[in-house]
Amino acid sequence: MERTLSIIKPDGVKQGLIGEVVRRFEKNGIRIIAMKMIRMTKNQAKGFYAVHEKRPFFDSLTDFMSSGPVVVMVLEADDVIAKNRTLMGATNFEEAAEGTIRRDFATDIEKNVVHGSDSPETAAFEIGYFFNAFEIAG
Ligand code: UDP
Ligand code: MG
Repeated sequence: MERTLSIIKPDGVKQGLIGEVVRRFEKNGIRIIAMKMIRMTKNQAKGFYAVHEKRPFFDSLTDFMSSGPVVVMVLEADDVIAKNRTLMGATNFEEAAEGTIRRDFATDIEKNVVHGSDSPETAAFEIGYFFNAFEIAG
């Protein structure tokens, strides 16, 4: 069993997509073992996306991620890091496969509805960034 961190970004929450995203996870055999709604400060968003610090989109991305509430979740399933990335679709929604969350609902390369960890190492860091052991019910 593998774990990954998912975030429904501020644009996803604003579009009323919490239920839709959760439904897609559950329909695909992914268990949600922790979940909460939070609003990040700009500094918390910067810490979360520290790997992208030098990228040109960093300032805009961290403004966006701290612009409203998000839903953070720990997902569990076999191979869930890759499974979640497949359900999400490519970063750029215009290149995302048909039927993926980003293809169906993203409006912009930045405002792409969901985040998902991209490796076991980032999953461990990202889960620990938002949840302590007592908050993971799984
Ligand atoms: N992003 C952006 N412009 C870009 C690339 C990425 O605004 O050219 C944003 C987008 O919201 C993306 C996030 O930065 O989801 C993190 O980028 P990453 O390359 O890690 O994509 P992801 O792992 O989310 O698919
Ligand atoms: Mg990424």
